[in-house]
Amino acid sequence: MTSNPLLQKWETPYGSPPFDKIKIRHFKPAIKAAIKTAAAEIKDIADNIEPPDFMNTVAALERSGEDLGRITSVLFNLNSAETSRVLQTVAREVSPLLTRFSNDITLNRKLFRRIKEIYESREISGLNTEQKILTEKKYRNFALGGAGLKSGEKKRFRQISEELATLSLKFDENVLEETNSFELHLTGKEDLAGLPENLVETAAMEAESRKKKGWVFTLNFPSYVPFMQYSEKRELRKKMFMAYSSRAFRGNEFDNRNNIIRIVNLRREIAVMLGFTNFAEMILGDRMADTPARVNSFLEELYSACKPAAVRDFEKVSRFAAETGFKGHLERWDWAFYSEKLKKKLFAIDDEILKPYFSLDNAGKAVFGLASSLYGIRFVENNSIPVYHSEVKTYEVFDSDNTFLSLLYLDFHPRPGKNGGAWMTSYRDQRGEEGRDVRPLISIVANFTRPGRTRPSLLTFNELTTFLHEFGHSLHGMFSKCTYESLSGTNVARDFVELPSQFMENFAYEKKWLDTWASHYETGEKIPDELITKIRESSAYNEGYAFFRQLGYAFLDMAWHTIQNPVETEITEFEKAVSGKTELFPSIDGINMSASFSHIFAGGYAAGYYGYKWAEVLDADAFSLFTEKGIFDKDTAASFRKNILEKGGTDRPEELYVRFRGKEATIDALLRRSGLI
Ligand SMILES: [Zn+2]
Repeated sequence: MTSNPLLQKWETPYGSPPFDKIKIRHFKPAIKAAIKTAAAEIKDIADNIEPPDFMNTVAALERSGEDLGRITSVLFNLNSAETSRVLQTVAREVSPLLTRFSNDITLNRKLFRRIKEIYESREISGLNTEQKILTEKKYRNFALGGAGLKSGEKKRFRQISEELATLSLKFDENVLEETNSFELHLTGKEDLAGLPENLVETAAMEAESRKKKGWVFTLNFPSYVPFMQYSEKRELRKKMFMAYSSRAFRGNEFDNRNNIIRIVNLRREIAVMLGFTNFAEMILGDRMADTPARVNSFLEELYSACKPAAVRDFEKVSRFAAETGFKGHLERWDWAFYSEKLKKKLFAIDDEILKPYFSLDNAGKAVFGLASSLYGIRFVENNSIPVYHSEVKTYEVFDSDNTFLSLLYLDFHPRPGKNGGAWMTSYRDQRGEEGRDVRPLISIVANFTRPGRTRPSLLTFNELTTFLHEFGHSLHGMFSKCTYESLSGTNVARDFVELPSQFMENFAYEKKWLDTWASHYETGEKIPDELITKIRESSAYNEGYAFFRQLGYAFLDMAWHTIQNPVETEITEFEKAVSGKTELFPSIDGINMSASFSHIFAGGYAAGYYGYKWAEVLDADAFSLFTEKGIFDKDTAASFRKNILEKGGTDRPEELYVRFRGKEATIDALLRRSGLI
């Protein structure tokens, strides 16, 4: 009998992780032991002398490695939310073990042969939709992992995969290096004209930390963005802009030009080896927009729809600049500056005005309340459930008929051991196991403003929408009613997963919802109507232009990943040929989008950047049904829950969507919401 709590049965409420008993030293031995157990399970499945069928192979594979799954989820969740040097080291040490184990599965020839047989007879073997989709998903994992290649090809495949992994890391390192190596060092007060006080203060601290006099501005977002918005010094804005836009494109050792060519050519080679025409076709296979042609026609449709608005925005800001005395035509380094000035003039609204109405306490109750009125669920705080940090709050979530749905952990504020940003995650996904319904353990982790000495935690509007967003993901996890974990909750197509989250953000703009809770934390005064109106109006400000920019990136992404033959041209040429159509400014030499486009060359967004807009189309279209029927309408909510939130990836997303909406999504609702029609 082991004394390692990670390997024991968790005798806690709802089988939640016994955080009070888990020590960092437990992870490595537990993971090694769990890999051993899982490997034995895999061997049994592969060596089974019975002919392969769904239950003895696909379902058995799905069930295997249960311990490994629950242990690694604790490890990696902690490594994001409450890490330390020691924990980071453990995570780094076990990662190669996990990769090797997962490669061992994918490259297990006997196992793949069984999977393939089931996959090939999936239409005639009496599988239900969920089983069929699970079979396809497993098969795809094997196939894209190179399982079907001949042994000579397998060697080349592994070589390419490894080289691609290195190239992506290198790409990212170059961008980081080039972002960090630039500084704008100012010593004269007159050069600070227009900059907000807190930005100047941070810049002074930055200078001090670099043992310099005066102020230092950098290319990191919190410094770069406000500098471009507020600096009255045009030459300095130009300097910042040029530095930002020429990162990893300056002909030095951190230049990404050759890396890009190498990455796109290798990606193409892999795709061709696996039988696809190009990389995008391979990646999009399991998406809602499942072919490059579909993505491109989607992008073209949005392009035609937003072009007039983009041009209008551009002219409006140009006109405003001219009225304030600007001469000549606007350059890219003028855009943020005049656009921000005009926004202030039109809406007179900012975070400081709104924050007092959005205390975290009130917002938390309101978000729970919203879920209660839409879906009839209840949240009960339970302090007896073990947590990994005293700040984490835990709730039991009950359905309207009082059955238990899920645990929900909330971890709101920044700490030194926590990653930036906000995310929803789980310690256990829902699944239906031999007639038993295993309920999920869901968590929301964020970095919301901490309470001050004299005031409670007050959220910015952006933090409020972030909260709603992550809560939307967690409803997707909590309502799940599926059989297999790989298809439950948020385990859905990449371009479908943001629907439940972005859908919830819509409520932040609704007077009917804000009126129920948003009141001043000191005076108790209700949020004034005119503020709500301004929130709504300013949200569509310059959206045409913003659309255009995003489409530019999406077109570029698709172009790089649909090449039919290896690219040999200069990346500048390639980029110009693609992005000319979304360019409103005069072109400038020495800058490049691709060279620092980490999303697609180092992140997971290759042939996926379009997904941002795709999900917006869905969430706007879904929410428009609520605006039509009433934003708290119980029947509409019940249908959203039954057809989308409960279903995970157990059916094709477009089927699920149509069942909820009664028809396919169109771009109209998004265009309307963004003020484009
Ligand atoms: Zn999200």
